[in-house]
Amino acid sequence: MQVFKFGGASVNSLERIRSLVQIFRENAGQSILVVISAMGKTTNALEKVAESFYRQDKEKALQLFDQIKQEHYQTAKALLTASYHSCEEQLLNFFTEVEWLLHDQPVQSYDYYYDQIVCIGELLSTSIVSAFLNESGIKNEWLDVRDILRTDDNFRDANIDWEFSASKVNQLVKPLLADNGIVLTQGFIGSTDENESTTLGREGSDYSAAVFANLLNAEKQTIWKDVAGVMNADPKIFPTAQLISTLNYTEVIEMAYYGAQVIHPKTIKPLQNKGIPLQVKCFLDTSLPGTLIHNEPVKNLPPIIVWKQAQVLLQLKSKDFSFVGEKPVAALYHIFAQHSMRPNMTQNGAISFTCVLDENAEKLEQLAFEAAQFFEVSMEKGLSLLTIRHNVPGLLDQLIQGKEWILKQETRETVQALLKTG
Ligand code: ASP
Ligand code: MG
Repeated sequence: MQVFKFGGASVNSLERIRSLVQIFRENAGQSILVVISAMGKTTNALEKVAESFYRQDKEKALQLFDQIKQEHYQTAKALLTASYHSCEEQLLNFFTEVEWLLHDQPVQSYDYYYDQIVCIGELLSTSIVSAFLNESGIKNEWLDVRDILRTDDNFRDANIDWEFSASKVNQLVKPLLADNGIVLTQGFIGSTDENESTTLGREGSDYSAAVFANLLNAEKQTIWKDVAGVMNADPKIFPTAQLISTLNYTEVIEMAYYGAQVIHPKTIKPLQNKGIPLQVKCFLDTSLPGTLIHNEPVKNLPPIIVWKQAQVLLQLKSKDFSFVGEKPVAALYHIFAQHSMRPNMTQNGAISFTCVLDENAEKLEQLAFEAAQFFEVSMEKGLSLLTIRHNVPGLLDQLIQGKEWILKQETRETVQALLKTG
């Protein structure tokens, strides 16, 4: 059996949803567990609803929510005929649940409400797509993933309860997949033992699919995207970017670490543990070979270029000319941990410590304030961090030509340069 994951971009228009039919026809006769994200930018829109609700701007929250409702009703209406009314009823139930909540006053944490509201994006998209595929002759069973994937209550970044989820997969999913069944469910969301909805972190559907692949011992997981596969650079920035046909898990983790938005990094471990290959394929042209990611070493990789924008340089100097040694650095990392901020690059000098972080206005201010207990703090914003894995001579110079660089670092595998943008 296989696991397919379709992201928001693959279901962001009627045409794209319709084109899913062909993909399933090409894979007829196979057992497939299908994980789907919320349509297009629905998650972002639902985040805005959650923010308005928590600000106690009920009118705004309801108004924004109504837009999401109308969009989904329209999509369902355009795609469905015989099953429109049953689908509409299913959508209505999800909408009503959230609307009840929006009429309340917030008394719990923001993260809790975020998950109760944002989780419906995936429930709506899968309800519509499942009904549409059934009408199109692709028989499938829709499951509410919250009945299967149990998590803890670490809202917005919930952790899977593997044991409980495994028993649910065995009990509810496997029988449906037997005899070439197709099961269609939501990515990104789960549920606590008290039936509260949870989410697994933004872009978490890749990870949901990997959890299923692991629990089902899938032969393969396929992530369907609107690009040819994993490229060695962002084709929007580098028109000469090329497809990488084979990668291994470690390289993907490295790429994600440096900021390449390829695959959610949490996806890799569940697959690696069971040696399940991951394929990235293009839903716009299924004849393209895509990228295969496995556990074996891969030689002769092209240079992999990652350009991370919106970076901040934080310069921390000791206040009394003492060395910036283990103690102040430990205190600093303690502050990073408290704010869940990971430096993307660091450099230690005698009386200064330099680090590069993602620009996150709110967290940075607090972080700088706390670090000021130990250091003299200065900050430079509006930078970008260029990383090249498997660098070749001359490439870095070519890429940074005409730009002012602030910091460079080089190892055998990786070179990085912090640049002034513009
Ligand atoms: N819909 C969620 C998001 O946009 C999860 C996902 O797409 O993987 O983050
Ligand atoms: Mg997505």
